[in-house]
Amino acid sequence: MAYVGRFAPSPTGPLHFGSLITAIASYCDAKANHGKWLVRIEDTDIPRIYPGSEEHILRAVDAFQLEPDAEIIFQKDRLDIYEDVIQQLRQQGLVYACQCTRKMLGSNHIYQDTCRNLGLAFEHQAIRLKVEDVEICFEDRLQGRHCSELKKDLGDFVLKRRDGIINYQLAVVVDDYLQGMTHVVRGADLLDNTERQIYLGQLLGYPRLSYMHLPLAMNDQGQKLSKQNLAQALDLTQAPQLLKQALQALHQAEVDLDAPQRMLQQAVAQWDIDRIPHTTELQGRYL
Ligand code: GLU
Repeated sequence: MAYVGRFAPSPTGPLHFGSLITAIASYCDAKANHGKWLVRIEDTDIPRIYPGSEEHILRAVDAFQLEPDAEIIFQKDRLDIYEDVIQQLRQQGLVYACQCTRKMLGSNHIYQDTCRNLGLAFEHQAIRLKVEDVEICFEDRLQGRHCSELKKDLGDFVLKRRDGIINYQLAVVVDDYLQGMTHVVRGADLLDNTERQIYLGQLLGYPRLSYMHLPLAMNDQGQKLSKQNLAQALDLTQAPQLLKQALQALHQAEVDLDAPQRMLQQAVAQWDIDRIPHTTELQGRYL
């Protein structure tokens, strides 16, 4: 089986234990399947970039001796590519310019097609994708079958914001395709984005990916670890201990404390996704 997987962090804060779990699981799953593992920095949302976090991610990849099989790419260097895809969708009549503000969307955030037929000029407006009234389903390797009725649950969605920022949904779909990705392993917080991404990929004629959404690490208040909840930055001097804890969180067989490279080798040899809890949250509490 061909396998290309990735770890695709957004530098919106330093890496925390939750991101480590994703990095380790995506790496072990790729390597256990004799696949390639890539790293991509998802830094299109410039206002949300947290100073120093890009460097912290790169240092963490080094400290955990997670060796990517290709050069690390940065989405902010690839804006022309995403613009070209928007042009392509525009020629196909699949997108339109939208002047609605977030406030105008109402409380359920489902877009009501307000601008769909207004024929607004594309400059300095948000760009929305027209979605059809279809149900998209996929079989997640851990979470089972997951479905969404895009039109009813979400409505037409934004690919480029009015401030010119390329939306994550577009960048992730385009780059997964251009990098030849076959497998996505990421946190269950992104489960609800998947149907949107599958739909966009279908419109663009891209092959469908395999998905595995991991249970999330929660803090002692039952919130997912994130910068907003003040999750601790990974202490890179403790890489072996943290690696051991991440594998424990994923319910994998024990590995011996050693240099990260050797611990990873052992983890890959023992990797068993059936041991990972098939839930969206981990039971333990983390910092
Ligand atoms: N950049 C996204 C994040 O850090 C993850 C994207 C993905 O794995 O698809 O939340």
